Amino acid sequence: MNPDSSLSTCPQCHAPLPADAPQGLCPSCLISLAGLATDQDTLPLTAADLPELADIAVAFPDLEIIEKIGQGGMGVVFKARQPKLDRLVALKVLPKALAVTPGFPERFNREGRVLARLSHPSIVTVHDFGESGGYCFLIMEYVDGVNLRQAMRAGRFTPEQALKVVPDICAALQAAHEQGVLHRDIKPENLLLDTKGRIKIADFGIAKLLDDRGVDLLLTQSGAKLGTAPYMAPEQIEQPSSVDHRADIYSLGVVLYEMLTGELPLGRFAAPSEKAAVGGNIDEIVFRALEKERGRRQQSAGEFKTQIEGAGLPAAHRVLMRTQEPFEYKSKRMLCGLPLLHIVRGRDPATGKVRTAHGFFAIGDKARGVFALGGIAHGYFACGGIATGLVTFGGLSFGLISIGGLALGLLLACGGLSIGTLAAGGIALGYHGCGGIAMAWHGMGGLVIAHQGHGGTVHAAEVVKNAQFMPPLTMWLESLTSYMGFLGISWFPISVFSFIAHWWARNEAAIEAGEIPRDASSSRIFWLLPAITAVCLIFWWMAACLSGTAAPQIVRVIVPVCVPVCVPVCVTCA
Ligand code: ADP
Ligand code: MG
Repeated sequence: MNPDSSLSTCPQCHAPLPADAPQGLCPSCLISLAGLATDQDTLPLTAADLPELADIAVAFPDLEIIEKIGQGGMGVVFKARQPKLDRLVALKVLPKALAVTPGFPERFNREGRVLARLSHPSIVTVHDFGESGGYCFLIMEYVDGVNLRQAMRAGRFTPEQALKVVPDICAALQAAHEQGVLHRDIKPENLLLDTKGRIKIADFGIAKLLDDRGVDLLLTQSGAKLGTAPYMAPEQIEQPSSVDHRADIYSLGVVLYEMLTGELPLGRFAAPSEKAAVGGNIDEIVFRALEKERGRRQQSAGEFKTQIEGAGLPAAHRVLMRTQEPFEYKSKRMLCGLPLLHIVRGRDPATGKVRTAHGFFAIGDKARGVFALGGIAHGYFACGGIATGLVTFGGLSFGLISIGGLALGLLLACGGLSIGTLAAGGIALGYHGCGGIAMAWHGMGGLVIAHQGHGGTVHAAEVVKNAQFMPPLTMWLESLTSYMGFLGISWFPISVFSFIAHWWARNEAAIEAGEIPRDASSSRIFWLLPAITAVCLIFWWMAACLSGTAAPQIVRVIVPVCVPVCVPVCVTCA
């Protein structure tokens, strides 16, 4: 993101800005923000409305109330001991004056339900919630430490420490998002740091709970602007009902910016590297999280985590990690009504479902197309862990012609266990079958159970002594089996091709999104794609050709050694 781009309108309310706007905000937003980043959130109450320690001790006879440790926008938090279990807990209560205010008891109830759903080392654990002595309450694990606001005030943050806690927050957010929980109020006051430096997310009071289809389960006040202004994503302010997990990513971006610079990223803000001892790659990550358009942010908390963790690593390692991030690349050119090339990785941020590549050439965790390559691939030519289609190659392959660990081919099947009209493999079942164990009408192999059979141990109505008297198709299958050992090796060129294709497409997607400039390296990567694949195929072919005869040792060594060596070499060159 370019911080200069937000000059003409207020980043909070998008009202036109006067040229000399202080901190780049309109006057009304500046006033409303002035009191927000305080040590504690403010309760909409006077001191007289807050419960005293003595009141709480009476309302909770099973607890020993020790001291008040905090308060926020909704509750007052006490440190307490549960004598029965001999443990410290945090007791959060809703002041009675707020219990009569519509919305507040529901928020308390929601926080209990949401926390009960989440179990993660970086999210506070809830022990109990309900009502006692007229107070809505929540009993949680006690975090012996301070919140991030207090830690920042005490000047406890170096950039290294800031970058160390962010991955844990990301992991916790990712876990929450996977459970359909959006926090919606990520800010320093709600992030707790214990004495060992571990971080925990607290305060799920305005969290939103979604079901599998993304429908709000708790019917949160979806029209209401909930959250804390400087940490809220633009869409959380403008269209609260449309908020998704990427709003938490924005908020975490604000928190990270603040941890690094001590300032909020308001108006025309400086790059973190101008204010703190961090590199330009951290600027890039922070600016991306702070993108106004959520489609341009990191698409998952997991992606954010990978980027932060990778920021300190050497460039080649970073490139490798980037290929693991979710992305989508679709070429504009069409063929047969499909995009010529569609490469995707990861889950759709909107639905949380694994994305499917759908193109003439489709590559992805799930791929569908004329040529499909992926974990689950379906196409005229399909290759993958599970491959279905006309000509298929994979761990499990089903098609007209199938090759794989378990191959089911209507016409021809080759593989460990092959079942087809013509079957060749370790165990072959078919009309014509050839393999270690062949069960067929016409069978050849080590152990043959057939009508007409030839081989080692033959149980057949007609035992054929001379192979030449077997039908030509059975003989042809037999000649196929000598190449079978090389099917395993063919995964090398395929994996290399897939790796480079993902790598290239990830870069293309980043260039199209304006994240990185187009330079010579992207076209270099593109040309590496066919070049490396061709080299791998030549190795494979040489090995296959020489396999029947006495294959020289050199070929046996070259294939498994050269191909994996090619990959890191290419990563470094590009
Ligand atoms: P609110 O919903 O009112 O904002 P929070 O849950 O954010 O309340 O808690 C307010 C403050 O209380 C936090 O900023 C933190 O300092 C403290 N606090 C909250 N939960 C705990 C806990 N489990 N252990 C220790 N301190 C806590
Ligand atoms: Mg809070």
